[in-house]
Amino acid sequence: MKLQSVRGMNDIFFPEMHLWHFVEEKIRRIYKNFGYSEIRTPYLESTQLFQRGVGNDTDIVEKEMYTFEDRSGESLSLRPEGTASVVRAIVEHNLLRENPIMKLYYLGPMFRHERPQKGRYRQFYQYGTELIGTDDPWSDIEVMAIHHMLYQELKLSGQTLRLNSIGCSTCRPKYKEKLTALLEARKGEIPEDFHPRIQTNPQRIFDHKSEKLVALKKELPLIINSLCEVCQKHFEGVQEGLKTLGIEFVIDPMIVRGLDYYNRTAFEFDSKDLGAQSAVGGGGRYNDMIEQLGGKSTPAVGYAGGLERLIMILEVQNQVNKSDLFKSDVSFVFADQNSVQKCMKWAYQAREMGLQADVSVQSEKSMKAQLKNADKAGSRYCFILGEREIQNQTVVLKDMSTQTQEDLPWGQIDQTLQKLVNQKLGNI
Ligand code: AMP
Repeated sequence: MKLQSVRGMNDIFFPEMHLWHFVEEKIRRIYKNFGYSEIRTPYLESTQLFQRGVGNDTDIVEKEMYTFEDRSGESLSLRPEGTASVVRAIVEHNLLRENPIMKLYYLGPMFRHERPQKGRYRQFYQYGTELIGTDDPWSDIEVMAIHHMLYQELKLSGQTLRLNSIGCSTCRPKYKEKLTALLEARKGEIPEDFHPRIQTNPQRIFDHKSEKLVALKKELPLIINSLCEVCQKHFEGVQEGLKTLGIEFVIDPMIVRGLDYYNRTAFEFDSKDLGAQSAVGGGGRYNDMIEQLGGKSTPAVGYAGGLERLIMILEVQNQVNKSDLFKSDVSFVFADQNSVQKCMKWAYQAREMGLQADVSVQSEKSMKAQLKNADKAGSRYCFILGEREIQNQTVVLKDMSTQTQEDLPWGQIDQTLQKLVNQKLGNI
């Protein structure tokens, strides 16, 4: 049997990997600039965590988790999302006692047994932030602003921030009752897969993809028209803040988010470059979840985006040249066995000094083949040590872009490498 990776789970390697690193570095830098520190939680958690934290009545928990019993009979699941684990960790380590406001981020794989297609995989990577400890609209705004900045830096065009408020435990029950009654009355027009949700989570009708529901949705009442005073004020505060920061958004009452634990703010970024799976990422406020997982009632807001989708957008827009991201600074080319050792030492030294240096590890390789490799590695400069140079105790320094070259005495190699380092630092 031919061995292959599990369906919907991908190998990622060069040259795409260079693009992944480029994006991951930007994500980490922007998160750090906003004062968020990384949290790494295990990929495996007790199944109960997601049942309680994501909600039994969600697609994720109902049918998408990789769940199994381990050797001691405990039910475990591969994490399908990041927030529940972050909250578990905060409660478990009592982090809120010392840090009433916490800014955390994560970046790593998530697992969902969905039908694989372009932009949707069974193992995929999410980057996300959680801002815990405050209900202030400025915290919702910050979580949106971070990601707005990220997408701007990546020069994504055609992305939209869609904003909604989905109410809270004060205003939602009355609205939910009204919506349930209306949907029960029109049950015949609603696809059967949604019937159980009419009672449990009727708002999800708005993100049901069925074409048949388009007309019905337009007739349904919207929660933003029945928000309580506190939610209304919060929603207005969020909109004002976004305007203050010059972040464009549209109000979209169809954004209800797939997860049970959200309240008030719900938002998504989407992009026209993504096709059917248009969501770049989504987030919202989850004031009830920490208490639900055994902690003290604490407000929180978060966001998660899919890395594969960011990479896809970058590929479509073709803004970044993948091979440029992994170019060597300098190559060393040797003539024969007599010059290998010198080149190896110089390459080692160059790497110590912070240069990306390339030298063949096959000491039999011809100079011609090595020069070809130097070209492929993208090195701007190439040190060539031929027989003549060995005799003269010199080395040829070739500028690959101008095709000019000069002879350097061995004694000048140190300072030349230092010049290249300075040049590189100046270029950053
Ligand atoms: P969610 O937790 O479902 O709101 O997902 C947040 C973001 O993660 C989505 O907007 C996507 O960018 C990404 N995402 C979710 N599920 C998948 C998947 N199966 N494959 C790839 N990306 C995904």
